[in-house]
Amino acid sequence: MECAVVIHTEEEFDWNGGFNRFNDNVSHHTQFTTTVKQLLDIGAKVTLALDYAFINSPQGRQAIEELVGLASPNIEFASHLHPWVTPPYSESDSEGNVDEYHSFAGNLARDLEFDKLKTLTDAIEALTHHAPTTYLAGRYGIGENTYEILHALGYKTDISPSAFSDFTSMGGPDFSSTTNGHYVKQGIEVFPHNSAFLSVVGPLANYLNKKPELFTRIQSSTPLKLLSKIARVKKLRFSPEGVPIYELKRIYSRLQQTGHQHLILSLHSSSLKSGLTPYSTGNTAADIGESTVEIMTWLLNNNKVIPSLVSEFSRLEKANND
Ligand SMILES: [Zn+2]
Repeated sequence: MECAVVIHTEEEFDWNGGFNRFNDNVSHHTQFTTTVKQLLDIGAKVTLALDYAFINSPQGRQAIEELVGLASPNIEFASHLHPWVTPPYSESDSEGNVDEYHSFAGNLARDLEFDKLKTLTDAIEALTHHAPTTYLAGRYGIGENTYEILHALGYKTDISPSAFSDFTSMGGPDFSSTTNGHYVKQGIEVFPHNSAFLSVVGPLANYLNKKPELFTRIQSSTPLKLLSKIARVKKLRFSPEGVPIYELKRIYSRLQQTGHQHLILSLHSSSLKSGLTPYSTGNTAADIGESTVEIMTWLLNNNKVIPSLVSEFSRLEKANND
């Protein structure tokens, strides 16, 4: 099994405070570079999905220049589009506010989504001397034009889908029937962000991870819901954010048992400094950097996983699920 650490490398903002183009502060750059270097030291490989506000800030720029200077083959610079802080800003009002629907780039008009992603792509290439080939939509927000745009801008891979997640209540995409498996869409290879169903009844968990439609049925039936509670069914993201180490180990084991090939451990750069995201705030907040290094150390020990960049994930031969 190949495993990539994917860091959503982005500005700090109040995750429950709406979207505004002027919320572009970056103050966690030191904690960010420290964690990336620790991960490299233990032999992990890190795909940094960079957003425009981060690399356009002096602090973020300095952090990336430092990592570019390492010339490490174990870092990949990918792109992460937060459309509300990426020019052109034609969808924001006079105070810079963007409504939730338009915080999903895939909901923008085709040319605006294209222009924003081109701005970001060019900025990443100018800073890292490398055109990004891996894409991650902010808020997992791909839309009907996204793959055509990715193709036009030279991208090869998308990691935006989030297995088993439904964002339709916020105006975003529905991935509730998307599993962790990878596929090809319009010439772009797609590796979803990983989540897993866990249960004390192993075969039930395995079934849910392959056929998540059952979970939707469970949700709409009181007796099934009760049974799933007894079987302690839960759905967890493969991320150190809000998920303790012992649960991350269970997720790994479950995905391994279902024959999963490509593991994405994801987190946000801003979680690496305490107090900046819901995961790093409050008395019970974990040190996300320490947790990330700890779980990666465990995964790399005894060759449970092969460290990989997203761009290095083994490819499908000819399959195409267009
Ligand atoms: Zn983001």
